[in-house]
Amino acid sequence: MVVVMQRTASQEDLEAVVNRLRELGFATHISRGVERTIIGAVGEKTIDQLQRLEAMSGVERIVPILQPFKLAGREFQPETSQIQVGNVVFGGQMIPVIAGPCAVENEKQLFETADHVKKAGASMLRGGAFKPRTSPYTFQGLEEEGLRLLAEARRRTGLPVVTEVVNPRDVETVIQYADMLQIGARNMQNYTLLKEVGMSRRPVLVKRGLSATVEEWLMAAEYIMLAGNENVVLCERGIRTYETQTRNTLDMSAVAAVQELSHLPIVVDPSHGTGKWRYVTPMALAAVAAGADGLMIEVHCRPEEALSDGPQSLRPEVFARLMERLAPVAKAVGRTL
Ligand code: PEP
Ligand code: MN
Repeated sequence: MVVVMQRTASQEDLEAVVNRLRELGFATHISRGVERTIIGAVGEKTIDQLQRLEAMSGVERIVPILQPFKLAGREFQPETSQIQVGNVVFGGQMIPVIAGPCAVENEKQLFETADHVKKAGASMLRGGAFKPRTSPYTFQGLEEEGLRLLAEARRRTGLPVVTEVVNPRDVETVIQYADMLQIGARNMQNYTLLKEVGMSRRPVLVKRGLSATVEEWLMAAEYIMLAGNENVVLCERGIRTYETQTRNTLDMSAVAAVQELSHLPIVVDPSHGTGKWRYVTPMALAAVAAGADGLMIEVHCRPEEALSDGPQSLRPEVFARLMERLAPVAKAVGRTL
């Protein structure tokens, strides 16, 4: 439920309500809006408890949350969350573009790509050091050496870095190098991992599971938020359907659905969403037109030599052209890149 405090409620009123909720066994999350403060309370409640809370000083009303996700829901927080990663903000007027290779392969490959995407106007760098590959016979990532190179690329370019963490045991290590943690599609329902990243305060990018419904995806975000980390950004990356022309079916309607149901920013990844580089530009333009709060694009200087996801990676010049074409679309929907 959500406890909406009166505009005139004092700090003491707020503290008294929070203490009472805690005594009753609720986990509480305070959200201070411009107009008023609301308290999200997660736990089992009875009608009786609700009525007694409503009688407390400073309380305006109690709103039961009917949706299964609470902290992630717009019922709990009507304004879109602004999630800051270094100097980049998701959920504001600007639309951050995250770009970089699927996997960190070596120093030259990463630095070359990072320099190109920075020059083209990307605001964040991506690159996998731990790669959850479908086949165990393919490149599995450089692991900590890859993280070290990413941190070096950040120093070089000034771009904050996002990278995937696949094992709860590695969260502590990845945090030492990355500005944002990525939960990959294959791990969206790895609840141990979600709780572990939830215990850190580092922003998290949660990719939609391969066959996850929007509700299951928001429940994954809920795990992270309930563990204490509210810095969550969602990423639509396509889902499994019967269509084989594309690697996945990019569910553009998820942008509208998520924005209706949740206050969390949503990024679209047309690279994994289509699996084909030729489809990436049109889908990136569509995502921005649809209102996405960011993009994630795979870029490789020599896609034909890439150790993973070459067929969906843009060459630097194609990425630069995409950035040029995105600007007027962003402007048309009242945003900037
Ligand atoms: C990736 O971002 O390279 C990746 C593995 O993505 P996903 O988890 O969406 O497949
Ligand atoms: Mn990839």
